[in-house]
Amino acid sequence: MLYLEYSYLSLPATFYEKVKPSPFSKPELLLLNQALLDELHIQPQNPQAFLSFLLNQEEGDAFGSFAQAYAGHQFGHFTKLGDGRAIVIGEYVSATKQRYDLQLKGSGRTAYSRGGDGKATLKSVLREYLMSEAMHALKVQSSRSLAVVKTGEMVQREKPHEGAFLIRLMKSHIRVGTFEYARYFGSSQDLKALTKYTIQRLYPEIEQEENQALALLKKAMLVQIDVVVDWMRIGFIHGVMNTDNTAISGETFDYGPCAFMNVYHPQTVFSAIDTQGRYAFGNQPSIIKWNLAKFAEALLPLLHPEPETALKLAQGAIDEFEDNWYKKYYKMMLLKIGIEDVSPENYALVNELLAIMKELKLDYTNTFLALSQDLVETGSTMDSVDFKNWKVNWMSVMLNATGMVQAKKIMEANNPAFIPRNYLVEEALEKATVGDFTQFEQLLKVLQNPYQYQESLNQFTIPPAEEFETSYTTFCGT
Ligand code: AMP
Ligand code: MG
Repeated sequence: MLYLEYSYLSLPATFYEKVKPSPFSKPELLLLNQALLDELHIQPQNPQAFLSFLLNQEEGDAFGSFAQAYAGHQFGHFTKLGDGRAIVIGEYVSATKQRYDLQLKGSGRTAYSRGGDGKATLKSVLREYLMSEAMHALKVQSSRSLAVVKTGEMVQREKPHEGAFLIRLMKSHIRVGTFEYARYFGSSQDLKALTKYTIQRLYPEIEQEENQALALLKKAMLVQIDVVVDWMRIGFIHGVMNTDNTAISGETFDYGPCAFMNVYHPQTVFSAIDTQGRYAFGNQPSIIKWNLAKFAEALLPLLHPEPETALKLAQGAIDEFEDNWYKKYYKMMLLKIGIEDVSPENYALVNELLAIMKELKLDYTNTFLALSQDLVETGSTMDSVDFKNWKVNWMSVMLNATGMVQAKKIMEANNPAFIPRNYLVEEALEKATVGDFTQFEQLLKVLQNPYQYQESLNQFTIPPAEEFETSYTTFCGT
Protein backbone atom coordinates (compact mmCIF):
# COMPACT_ATOMS: atom_id res chain seq x y z
CA MET A 1 0.00 0.00 0.00
CA LEU A 2 2.74 2.39 0.98
CA TYR A 3 6.42 1.65 0.76
CA LEU A 4 8.16 2.57 4.01
CA GLU A 5 11.87 2.72 4.74
CA TYR A 6 13.84 2.53 7.98
CA SER A 7 17.07 4.44 7.49
CA TYR A 8 17.05 5.48 11.16
CA LEU A 9 17.65 1.86 12.13
CA SER A 10 21.09 2.08 10.53
CA LEU A 11 22.10 4.04 13.63
CA PRO A 12 23.52 2.15 16.65
CA ALA A 13 20.78 0.35 18.61
CA THR A 14 21.11 2.75 21.55
CA PHE A 15 19.16 5.35 19.51
CA TYR A 16 15.88 3.47 19.36
CA GLU A 17 13.64 0.74 20.68
CA LYS A 18 11.73 -1.36 18.19
CA VAL A 19 8.14 -1.28 19.34
CA LYS A 20 4.67 -1.66 17.90
CA PRO A 21 1.67 0.56 18.59
CA SER A 22 -0.66 -0.73 21.31
CA PRO A 23 -3.54 -2.76 19.95
CA PHE A 24 -6.73 -0.73 19.99
CA SER A 25 -10.02 -2.56 19.78
CA LYS A 26 -11.95 0.04 17.80
CA PRO A 27 -9.68 2.66 16.19
CA GLU A 28 -11.78 5.16 14.29
CA LEU A 29 -10.43 7.60 11.75
CA LEU A 30 -11.84 10.99 12.73
CA LEU A 31 -9.91 13.34 10.46
CA LEU A 32 -7.88 12.62 7.37
CA ASN A 33 -5.83 15.37 5.75
CA GLN A 34 -6.71 14.83 2.10
CA ALA A 35 -4.73 17.86 0.91
CA LEU A 36 -1.58 16.47 2.53
CA LEU A 37 -2.19 13.00 1.09
CA ASP A 38 -2.54 14.59 -2.35
CA GLU A 39 0.60 16.65 -1.84
CA LEU A 40 2.51 13.49 -1.00
CA HIS A 41 0.86 11.44 -3.75
CA ILE A 42 -0.41 8.96 -1.19
CA GLN A 43 -3.65 7.54 -2.48
CA PRO A 44 -5.17 5.03 -0.11
CA GLN A 45 -8.09 3.29 -1.80
CA ASN A 46 -9.78 3.05 1.51
CA PRO A 47 -8.92 5.10 4.63
CA GLN A 48 -9.76 2.29 7.04
CA ALA A 49 -7.42 -0.11 5.23
CA PHE A 50 -4.74 2.59 5.29
CA LEU A 51 -5.14 2.82 9.04
CA SER A 52 -4.92 -0.96 9.53
CA PHE A 53 -1.80 -0.97 7.36
CA LEU A 54 -0.15 1.64 9.62
CA LEU A 55 -1.17 -0.11 12.83
CA ASN A 56 -0.23 -3.61 11.76
CA GLN A 57 3.22 -3.23 10.27
CA GLU A 58 5.17 -6.45 10.62
CA GLU A 59 8.36 -6.23 12.59
CA GLY A 60 11.53 -7.73 11.19
CA ASP A 61 15.26 -7.35 11.44
CA ALA A 62 15.63 -4.66 8.84
CA PHE A 63 12.37 -2.87 9.39
CA GLY A 64 9.61 -2.27 11.85
CA SER A 65 8.32 0.65 13.85
CA PHE A 66 10.43 2.20 16.59
CA ALA A 67 10.53 4.80 19.33
CA GLN A 68 13.44 7.23 19.42
CA ALA A 69 15.81 7.74 22.33
CA TYR A 70 16.73 11.28 23.32
CA ALA A 71 17.51 13.49 26.25
CA GLY A 72 16.86 17.17 26.75
CA HIS A 73 17.02 20.28 28.85
CA GLN A 74 13.51 20.90 30.11
CA PHE A 75 13.10 24.38 31.57
CA GLY A 76 16.87 24.40 31.98
CA HIS A 77 17.20 20.96 33.66
CA PHE A 78 18.85 18.04 31.93
CA THR A 79 16.90 14.75 31.76
CA LYS A 80 16.92 11.47 29.87
CA LEU A 81 13.71 11.27 27.85
CA GLY A 82 12.78 9.50 24.60
CA ASP A 83 9.52 8.92 22.74
CA GLY A 84 7.30 8.04 25.67
CA ARG A 85 4.14 8.19 23.62
CA ALA A 86 5.26 8.30 20.01
CA ILE A 87 6.28 5.61 17.53
CA VAL A 88 7.76 6.09 14.08
CA ILE A 89 5.90 3.68 11.81
CA GLY A 90 8.42 4.17 9.03
CA GLU A 91 9.89 6.71 6.66
CA TYR A 92 8.03 7.74 3.56
CA VAL A 93 10.05 9.10 0.64
CA SER A 94 7.98 11.38 -1.57
CA ALA A 95 8.20 11.74 -5.35
CA THR A 96 10.39 14.79 -4.78
CA LYS A 97 12.76 12.56 -2.76
CA GLN A 98 11.85 14.22 0.52
CA ARG A 99 12.03 11.73 3.38
CA TYR A 100 9.42 12.01 6.15
CA ASP A 101 9.03 10.20 9.46
CA LEU A 102 5.50 8.86 9.67
CA GLN A 103 4.85 8.95 13.39
CA LEU A 104 1.98 8.01 15.64
CA LYS A 105 1.66 10.16 18.75
CA GLY A 106 -0.42 8.78 21.60
CA SER A 107 -0.32 5.16 20.45
CA GLY A 108 0.85 3.50 23.65
CA ARG A 109 3.78 2.91 25.96
CA THR A 110 7.38 2.47 24.92
CA ALA A 111 10.64 1.80 26.76
CA TYR A 112 10.85 5.57 27.31
CA SER A 113 7.41 6.11 28.83
CA ARG A 114 8.71 6.40 32.40
CA GLY A 115 5.58 6.86 34.54
CA GLY A 116 3.38 7.91 31.61
CA ASP A 117 0.61 5.93 29.94
CA GLY A 118 1.86 6.57 26.39
CA LYS A 119 -1.56 7.93 25.45
CA ALA A 120 -3.02 11.26 24.39
CA THR A 121 -6.41 12.86 24.86
CA LEU A 122 -8.58 13.57 21.85
CA LYS A 123 -8.55 17.26 22.69
CA SER A 124 -4.75 17.52 22.68
CA VAL A 125 -4.53 15.63 19.40
CA LEU A 126 -7.16 17.81 17.72
CA ARG A 127 -5.31 20.86 19.01
CA GLU A 128 -2.04 19.71 17.47
CA TYR A 129 -3.78 18.91 14.18
CA LEU A 130 -5.35 22.38 13.99
CA MET A 131 -2.27 24.30 15.11
CA SER A 132 0.24 22.48 12.91
CA GLU A 133 -1.92 22.80 9.81
CA ALA A 134 -2.52 26.48 10.60
CA MET A 135 1.23 27.01 10.96
CA HIS A 136 1.86 25.34 7.63
CA ALA A 137 -0.66 27.62 5.93
CA LEU A 138 0.96 30.57 7.70
CA LYS A 139 4.11 29.55 5.84
CA VAL A 140 6.05 28.48 8.89
CA GLN A 141 8.18 25.32 8.79
CA SER A 142 6.19 22.80 10.78
CA SER A 143 5.43 19.16 11.41
CA ARG A 144 2.30 18.16 9.51
CA SER A 145 -0.78 16.31 10.66
CA LEU A 146 -2.05 13.53 8.46
CA ALA A 147 -4.86 12.13 10.57
CA VAL A 148 -6.59 11.94 13.91
CA VAL A 149 -7.67 8.52 15.11
CA LYS A 150 -9.96 7.99 18.06
CA THR A 151 -8.80 4.93 19.99
CA GLY A 152 -12.12 4.05 21.59
CA GLU A 153 -10.38 4.04 24.99
CA MET A 154 -10.58 6.48 27.84
CA VAL A 155 -7.42 8.21 29.03
CA GLN A 156 -7.12 9.16 32.68
CA ARG A 157 -5.94 12.68 33.40
CA GLU A 158 -7.41 14.91 36.12
CA LYS A 159 -10.61 13.22 34.90
CA PRO A 160 -11.25 10.59 32.19
CA HIS A 161 -10.96 11.84 28.60
CA GLU A 162 -11.54 10.25 25.25
CA GLY A 163 -8.26 8.92 23.87
CA ALA A 164 -6.82 9.44 20.38
CA PHE A 165 -3.60 9.44 18.46
CA LEU A 166 -2.20 11.72 15.81
CA ILE A 167 -0.49 10.63 12.62
CA ARG A 168 2.24 13.18 12.16
CA LEU A 169 4.86 13.80 9.50
CA MET A 170 8.23 15.44 9.92
CA LYS A 171 11.31 15.69 7.75
CA SER A 172 13.00 14.27 10.80
CA HIS A 173 12.38 14.10 14.53
CA ILE A 174 16.10 14.40 15.29
CA ARG A 175 16.40 17.15 17.84
CA VAL A 176 19.04 18.91 19.91
CA GLY A 177 18.13 16.40 22.63
CA THR A 178 19.08 13.46 20.37
CA PHE A 179 22.61 14.88 20.23
CA GLU A 180 22.62 15.48 23.98
CA TYR A 181 21.62 11.85 24.43
CA ALA A 182 24.47 10.67 22.17
CA ARG A 183 26.99 12.89 23.93
CA TYR A 184 26.06 12.15 27.55
CA PHE A 185 24.64 8.62 27.38
CA GLY A 186 26.41 7.19 24.33
CA SER A 187 29.92 6.65 23.06
CA SER A 188 31.95 8.93 20.81
CA GLN A 189 31.13 6.49 18.00
CA ASP A 190 27.42 7.03 18.67
CA LEU A 191 27.82 10.79 18.42
CA LYS A 192 29.78 10.42 15.21
CA ALA A 193 27.19 8.09 13.70
CA LEU A 194 24.33 10.43 14.59
CA THR A 195 26.12 13.44 13.13
CA LYS A 196 26.90 11.62 9.91
CA TYR A 197 23.35 10.32 9.60
CA THR A 198 21.79 13.74 10.30
CA ILE A 199 23.94 15.45 7.70
CA GLN A 200 23.21 12.78 5.10
CA ARG A 201 19.53 12.95 5.79
CA LEU A 202 18.94 16.68 6.24
CA TYR A 203 21.88 18.61 4.86
CA PRO A 204 23.79 16.52 2.30
CA GLU A 205 25.19 19.76 0.88
CA ILE A 206 27.58 20.04 3.86
CA GLU A 207 29.03 16.55 3.43
CA GLN A 208 31.92 18.13 1.52
CA GLU A 209 32.82 20.51 4.36
CA GLU A 210 36.11 19.92 6.12
CA ASN A 211 34.58 20.37 9.59
CA GLN A 212 31.17 18.76 9.17
CA ALA A 213 30.10 19.07 12.81
CA LEU A 214 30.79 22.80 12.74
CA ALA A 215 28.93 23.14 9.45
CA LEU A 216 25.97 21.28 10.98
CA LEU A 217 25.95 23.58 13.99
CA LYS A 218 25.92 26.66 11.75
CA LYS A 219 23.25 25.19 9.51
CA ALA A 220 21.03 24.34 12.49
CA MET A 221 21.51 27.87 13.76
CA LEU A 222 20.34 29.41 10.50
CA VAL A 223 17.26 27.21 10.12
CA GLN A 224 16.31 27.74 13.76
CA ILE A 225 16.68 31.49 13.39
CA ASP A 226 14.45 31.35 10.31
CA VAL A 227 11.71 29.45 12.08
CA VAL A 228 11.75 31.56 15.25
CA VAL A 229 11.76 34.74 13.13
CA ASP A 230 8.59 33.36 11.56
CA TRP A 231 7.07 32.77 14.99
CA MET A 232 7.78 36.41 15.85
CA ARG A 233 6.21 37.45 12.56
CA ILE A 234 2.86 35.85 13.36
CA GLY A 235 2.80 36.24 17.15
CA PHE A 236 3.29 32.55 17.92
CA ILE A 237 4.42 31.44 21.36
CA HIS A 238 5.67 27.85 21.35
CA GLY A 239 5.45 27.58 25.12
CA VAL A 240 7.77 24.64 25.66
CA MET A 241 11.03 25.35 23.86
CA ASN A 242 12.97 22.61 25.60
CA THR A 243 15.98 21.20 23.74
CA ASP A 244 14.03 17.99 23.10
CA ASN A 245 11.47 20.09 21.24
CA THR A 246 14.04 21.83 19.02
CA ALA A 247 14.33 19.97 15.72
CA ILE A 248 17.58 20.03 13.75
CA SER A 249 15.45 20.25 10.60
CA GLY A 250 14.11 23.65 11.70
CA GLU A 251 10.52 22.41 11.82
CA THR A 252 8.20 23.69 14.55
CA PHE A 253 6.82 20.71 16.46
CA ASP A 254 5.19 19.56 19.67
CA TYR A 255 2.16 21.76 19.85
CA GLY A 256 1.49 21.35 23.55
CA PRO A 257 0.93 24.58 25.41
CA CYS A 258 1.45 26.85 22.40
CA ALA A 259 -0.73 29.91 21.86
CA PHE A 260 -1.01 33.07 19.80
CA MET A 261 -0.44 36.50 21.25
CA ASN A 262 -3.30 38.97 21.02
CA VAL A 263 -2.32 42.27 22.68
CA TYR A 264 1.34 42.94 21.96
CA HIS A 265 3.61 42.48 24.94
CA PRO A 266 6.99 40.74 24.84
CA GLN A 267 6.37 39.06 28.20
CA THR A 268 3.21 37.33 27.00
CA VAL A 269 3.01 33.74 28.19
CA PHE A 270 0.03 31.38 28.42
CA SER A 271 1.52 28.06 29.45
CA ALA A 272 0.43 26.95 32.91
CA ILE A 273 3.74 25.18 33.53
CA ASP A 274 5.88 28.15 32.51
CA THR A 275 5.51 29.99 35.78
CA GLN A 276 8.78 31.90 35.34
CA GLY A 277 7.90 33.11 31.84
CA ARG A 278 11.04 31.42 30.48
CA TYR A 279 9.38 30.82 27.13
CA ALA A 280 7.51 34.13 26.84
CA PHE A 281 7.03 35.62 23.36
CA GLY A 282 9.96 38.01 23.55
CA ASN A 283 12.33 35.47 25.13
CA GLN A 284 12.12 33.08 22.18
CA PRO A 285 15.25 34.40 20.40
CA SER A 286 17.45 34.17 23.50
CA ILE A 287 16.07 30.71 24.31
CA ILE A 288 16.77 29.38 20.84
CA LYS A 289 20.30 30.72 21.20
CA TRP A 290 20.59 28.87 24.53
CA ASN A 291 19.31 25.66 22.92
CA LEU A 292 21.84 26.05 20.12
CA ALA A 293 24.58 26.48 22.71
CA LYS A 294 23.47 23.12 24.17
CA PHE A 295 23.72 21.67 20.68
CA ALA A 296 27.23 23.09 20.35
CA GLU A 297 28.21 21.55 23.71
CA ALA A 298 26.95 18.16 22.61
CA LEU A 299 29.00 18.41 19.41
CA LEU A 300 32.22 19.53 21.15
CA PRO A 301 34.21 16.27 20.75
CA LEU A 302 33.58 16.37 17.02
CA LEU A 303 34.39 20.03 16.51
CA HIS A 304 38.07 19.48 17.28
CA PRO A 305 40.17 16.83 19.08
CA GLU A 306 41.72 19.56 21.25
CA PRO A 307 39.09 20.55 23.85
CA GLU A 308 40.21 24.16 23.94
CA THR A 309 40.07 24.57 20.18
CA ALA A 310 36.70 22.81 20.11
CA LEU A 311 35.37 25.25 22.68
CA LYS A 312 36.67 28.21 20.71
CA LEU A 313 35.03 26.93 17.51
CA ALA A 314 31.73 26.39 19.35
CA GLN A 315 31.89 29.82 20.94
CA GLY A 316 32.75 31.39 17.59
CA ALA A 317 29.71 29.81 15.97
CA ILE A 318 27.36 30.79 18.81
CA ASP A 319 28.75 34.33 18.74
CA GLU A 320 27.44 34.60 15.19
CA PHE A 321 23.90 34.23 16.51
CA GLU A 322 23.15 37.89 17.29
CA ASP A 323 24.31 39.24 13.99
CA ASN A 324 22.31 36.63 12.05
CA TRP A 325 19.30 37.06 14.30
CA TYR A 326 19.08 40.83 14.05
CA LYS A 327 19.55 40.83 10.28
CA LYS A 328 16.82 38.26 9.73
CA TYR A 329 14.52 39.65 12.40
CA TYR A 330 14.60 43.23 11.14
CA LYS A 331 14.31 42.12 7.55
CA MET A 332 11.12 40.30 8.52
CA MET A 333 9.73 43.15 10.64
CA LEU A 334 10.44 45.67 7.89
CA LEU A 335 8.58 43.48 5.41
CA LYS A 336 5.64 43.54 7.83
CA ILE A 337 5.54 47.30 7.29
CA GLY A 338 6.15 47.04 3.57
CA ILE A 339 9.78 48.11 3.50
CA GLU A 340 12.26 46.12 1.47
CA ASP A 341 15.21 48.33 2.31
CA VAL A 342 16.86 46.60 5.25
CA SER A 343 19.32 49.38 6.11
CA PRO A 344 19.85 49.59 9.88
CA GLU A 345 18.64 53.20 9.87
CA ASN A 346 15.17 51.79 9.22
CA TYR A 347 15.27 49.55 12.33
CA ALA A 348 14.06 52.43 14.49
CA LEU A 349 10.72 52.41 12.65
CA VAL A 350 10.14 48.85 13.85
CA ASN A 351 11.22 49.56 17.42
CA GLU A 352 9.06 52.68 17.64
CA LEU A 353 6.00 50.88 16.31
CA LEU A 354 6.42 48.04 18.82
CA ALA A 355 6.83 50.54 21.65
CA ILE A 356 3.57 52.26 20.62
CA MET A 357 1.76 48.95 20.32
CA LYS A 358 2.90 47.94 23.78
CA GLU A 359 1.93 51.30 25.26
CA LEU A 360 -1.51 51.34 23.62
CA LYS A 361 -2.06 47.59 24.22
CA LEU A 362 -2.77 47.00 20.56
CA ASP A 363 -3.60 43.65 19.06
CA TYR A 364 -0.46 42.39 17.29
CA THR A 365 -2.15 40.76 14.28
CA ASN A 366 -4.81 43.40 13.78
CA THR A 367 -2.41 46.34 13.91
CA PHE A 368 -0.37 45.01 11.01
CA LEU A 369 -3.53 43.94 9.23
CA ALA A 370 -4.91 47.45 9.60
CA LEU A 371 -1.71 48.96 8.26
CA SER A 372 -1.68 46.63 5.28
CA GLN A 373 -5.37 47.07 4.59
CA ASP A 374 -5.16 50.82 5.09
CA LEU A 375 -7.83 50.58 7.74
CA VAL A 376 -6.35 52.81 10.37
CA GLU A 377 -9.39 54.82 11.30
CA THR A 378 -9.61 58.13 13.09
CA GLY A 379 -11.16 57.82 16.49
CA SER A 380 -9.62 54.41 17.15
CA THR A 381 -6.92 53.85 19.76
CA MET A 382 -4.50 53.88 16.85
CA ASP A 383 -5.22 57.54 16.42
CA SER A 384 -2.82 58.57 19.18
CA VAL A 385 -0.38 61.39 18.48
CA ASP A 386 2.56 59.02 18.66
CA PHE A 387 0.92 56.63 16.25
CA LYS A 388 0.07 59.46 13.84
CA ASN A 389 3.62 60.75 13.91
CA TRP A 390 4.95 57.26 13.39
CA LYS A 391 2.67 56.82 10.38
CA VAL A 392 3.90 60.02 8.76
CA ASN A 393 7.46 58.85 9.21
CA TRP A 394 6.68 55.34 8.02
CA MET A 395 4.83 56.58 4.93
CA SER A 396 7.73 58.71 3.81
CA VAL A 397 10.28 55.90 4.23
CA MET A 398 7.95 53.30 2.72
CA LEU A 399 7.03 55.42 -0.31
CA ASN A 400 10.66 56.18 -0.93
CA ALA A 401 11.96 52.66 -0.40
CA THR A 402 9.24 50.51 -1.89
CA GLY A 403 6.27 52.42 -3.24
CA MET A 404 2.65 51.97 -2.22
CA VAL A 405 1.60 49.20 -4.61
CA GLN A 406 4.57 46.97 -3.92
CA ALA A 407 4.45 47.73 -0.19
CA LYS A 408 0.83 46.65 0.05
CA LYS A 409 1.68 43.42 -1.74
CA ILE A 410 4.56 42.64 0.59
CA MET A 411 2.56 43.51 3.67
CA GLU A 412 -0.33 41.29 2.63
CA ALA A 413 2.07 38.41 2.09
CA ASN A 414 3.68 38.81 5.50
CA ASN A 415 0.82 39.82 7.78
CA PRO A 416 -1.84 37.20 8.35
CA ALA A 417 -5.44 38.30 8.72
CA PHE A 418 -6.47 35.07 10.40
CA ILE A 419 -4.59 33.30 13.16
CA PRO A 420 -5.81 30.51 15.46
CA ARG A 421 -6.91 32.86 18.19
CA ASN A 422 -6.87 31.04 21.50
CA TYR A 423 -10.55 31.50 22.30
CA LEU A 424 -11.62 30.37 18.82
CA VAL A 425 -9.45 27.26 19.16
CA GLU A 426 -10.82 26.46 22.62
CA GLU A 427 -14.44 26.90 21.50
CA ALA A 428 -13.87 24.69 18.46
CA LEU A 429 -12.14 22.01 20.56
CA GLU A 430 -14.81 22.01 23.27
CA LYS A 431 -17.45 21.27 20.64
CA ALA A 432 -15.36 18.81 18.62
CA THR A 433 -14.55 16.66 21.64
CA VAL A 434 -18.28 16.09 22.12
CA GLY A 435 -18.74 15.21 18.47
CA ASP A 436 -19.72 18.51 16.88
CA PHE A 437 -17.07 19.32 14.29
CA THR A 438 -18.87 22.24 12.63
CA GLN A 439 -16.82 24.97 14.28
CA PHE A 440 -13.58 22.99 14.08
CA GLU A 441 -13.96 22.42 10.34
CA GLN A 442 -14.94 26.04 9.78
CA LEU A 443 -11.92 27.36 11.68
CA LEU A 444 -9.61 24.92 9.94
CA LYS A 445 -10.94 26.14 6.61
CA VAL A 446 -10.46 29.82 7.41
CA LEU A 447 -6.93 29.06 8.61
CA GLN A 448 -6.06 27.41 5.30
CA ASN A 449 -6.02 30.85 3.73
CA PRO A 450 -4.69 33.11 6.47
CA TYR A 451 -3.26 35.89 4.31
CA GLN A 452 -6.35 36.60 2.29
CA TYR A 453 -8.43 39.08 4.24
CA GLN A 454 -12.15 38.78 3.59
CA GLU A 455 -14.62 41.10 5.20
CA SER A 456 -17.20 38.33 5.41
CA LEU A 457 -14.87 36.48 7.79
CA ASN A 458 -14.35 39.46 10.07
CA GLN A 459 -15.59 37.53 13.09
CA PHE A 460 -12.34 35.52 13.01
CA THR A 461 -10.27 38.67 13.45
CA ILE A 462 -11.94 39.77 16.67
CA PRO A 463 -9.58 39.70 19.68
CA PRO A 464 -10.79 37.90 22.81
CA ALA A 465 -12.56 39.63 25.66
CA GLU A 466 -10.04 40.91 28.21
CA GLU A 467 -11.26 38.44 30.86
CA PHE A 468 -10.50 35.54 28.53
CA GLU A 469 -7.08 36.89 27.66
CA THR A 470 -5.97 37.38 31.24
CA SER A 471 -7.28 34.05 32.51
CA TYR A 472 -6.29 31.87 29.55
CA THR A 473 -3.73 29.17 30.25
CA THR A 474 -2.60 26.20 28.20
CA PHE A 475 -1.48 22.79 29.41
CA CYS A 476 0.91 20.38 27.80
CA GLY A 477 1.39 16.63 27.90
CA THR A 478 -2.34 15.96 28.06
P1 AMP B 1 6.60 16.83 25.47
O1 AMP B 1 6.38 17.83 26.54
O2 AMP B 1 5.35 16.41 24.76
O3 AMP B 1 7.69 17.19 24.54
O4 AMP B 1 7.05 15.50 26.23
C1 AMP B 1 8.21 15.44 27.04
C2 AMP B 1 8.53 14.01 27.34
O5 AMP B 1 7.49 13.38 28.07
C3 AMP B 1 8.75 13.13 26.11
O6 AMP B 1 9.74 12.20 26.41
C4 AMP B 1 7.39 12.47 25.95
O7 AMP B 1 7.45 11.28 25.22
C5 AMP B 1 7.01 12.24 27.40
N1 AMP B 1 5.56 12.11 27.59
C6 AMP B 1 4.63 13.10 27.53
N2 AMP B 1 3.40 12.61 27.75
C7 AMP B 1 3.53 11.29 27.97
C8 AMP B 1 2.61 10.22 28.27
N3 AMP B 1 1.30 10.44 28.40
N4 AMP B 1 3.14 8.98 28.42
C9 AMP B 1 4.44 8.76 28.30
N5 AMP B 1 5.35 9.70 28.04
C10 AMP B 1 4.90 10.96 27.87
MG1 MG C 1 8.49 16.75 22.88
